[in-house]
Amino acid sequence: MYDVVVIGSGAAGLMGGISASKHKKKILILEQLDEIAMKLKATGGGRCNLTNTLSLEPFMEKFGKNGRFMRDALVAFSSKDLQDFMKSIGVETHAPDGFRIFPTTHKSSTIIDGLKNKLTLENIEVLCGQKVVNVFKENDIFHIKTEQNEFLAKYLIVATGGFGYKNLGATGDGYEVAKSFGHSVNKLYPAMMPLLVKDDWVVNCTADTIAKATISVDIKKYNKLKATGDLIFSKNGIRGPVVLDFAREITPLFDTLNEIPIVVNLVKNRDENDLIEHFKINKKAIIMDSLLQIIPKSVALELLKIINIDPNLTYFSLSGEDKSRVLKIFTKTPMTISGSDGFKLAMITRGGVNLKEIDPSSMESKIIKNLYFAGEIIDIDGPCGGYNLQWAFSSGFLAGNLK
Ligand SMILES: Cc1cc2nc3c(=O)[nH]c(=O)nc-3n(C[C@H](O)[C@H](O)[C@H](O)COP(=O)(O)OP(=O)(O)OC[C@H]3O[C@@H](n4cnc5c(N)ncnc54)[C@H](O)[C@@H]3O)c2cc1C
Repeated sequence: MYDVVVIGSGAAGLMGGISASKHKKKILILEQLDEIAMKLKATGGGRCNLTNTLSLEPFMEKFGKNGRFMRDALVAFSSKDLQDFMKSIGVETHAPDGFRIFPTTHKSSTIIDGLKNKLTLENIEVLCGQKVVNVFKENDIFHIKTEQNEFLAKYLIVATGGFGYKNLGATGDGYEVAKSFGHSVNKLYPAMMPLLVKDDWVVNCTADTIAKATISVDIKKYNKLKATGDLIFSKNGIRGPVVLDFAREITPLFDTLNEIPIVVNLVKNRDENDLIEHFKINKKAIIMDSLLQIIPKSVALELLKIINIDPNLTYFSLSGEDKSRVLKIFTKTPMTISGSDGFKLAMITRGGVNLKEIDPSSMESKIIKNLYFAGEIIDIDGPCGGYNLQWAFSSGFLAGNLK
């Protein structure tokens, strides 16, 4: 019999087990994959952007309407606490851009090695290759059945993550566990994934990154849905940090729309007047040369082709109508999103275990005593930039406090 069993060895589950070890002796973490923390290993392109420098209020705001649910968890285990904890397990961190925090080695494996040492130090048992297939509670004891064994525990922490990147363990099993205990699971959407577009011209721009692009939905009702950041064209779509954040905003729209019209500002948020000023810097320069200072050549050529403008003309030699077409296509490039590859490449799952059924001061289920949830399985998701891992670590820490 264990005091605590944790299902899942991601950021939330590992921190849940470590936190519980402060006051419980026999702790077991069960992981279905052959290694712990496979998703954590892949984070930040293998560099692991584990948190950021934002303070509590602005941090919560970035999560939208569900953000306030995180308050107690973030107070119990803040970004500073996470960095101090990392230091205590031998992982130095820093913020090279003043905002996103990484291990100084820029290797997620440093964090995983530190966590493994801590698990050993605290005598926390970890069993990999143990997929939990059934869980129930009888006479105040949880029975946790894997494909091979049955484990008994007084407390259970479910930290099984979401649905995105199945190969990294996101099989969604925890949602079934939650439902079997009477919890409701809010609709699940793939979020933070590359998007597919109908616009064929992007295939000719795949080598280039556009800095500070702003994407917004071109439907009046939804035009507040927007994001700004680096954009990369792929052979059939768009990707990059701005696309991940934008995808997270719009993913529920696919319920009702097959295609989503968008406008993209590809000229570092210059509006039409700013662009005219830019052309004025050298009135004799051909359009192409002026544009090259603010946008990659491939993109400039493709957009000029769409509006049938010769790139070798000067802006000021164009007719009034052509001038306004140039200004419009570069400040509000129209594109159409046709979909995504769904959960396959979704870095985050939107939706999850209903917040109303979890006590935010402890992460304990309001339905089943001694059952706790932590991490992405809960209906909380944030944008790119260390938000989601901080949530996973903070909620894991609070869940591990146990009541
Ligand atoms: C490619 C990629 C890059 C990312 N980069 C960042 C980043 O830089 N910064 C950031 O903040 N966020 C990032 N994220 C998001 C972040 O990784 C997640 O929000 C976070 O890892 C969620 O942690 P978790 O512990 O809740 O779930 P997970 O890390 O998914 O862990 C859940 C674990 O439970 C196990 N499990 C599931 N079902 C069972 C079962 N039935 N039996 C046993 N074990 C089971 C899984 O195998 C898995 O190991 C990234 C995501 C991806 C996919």
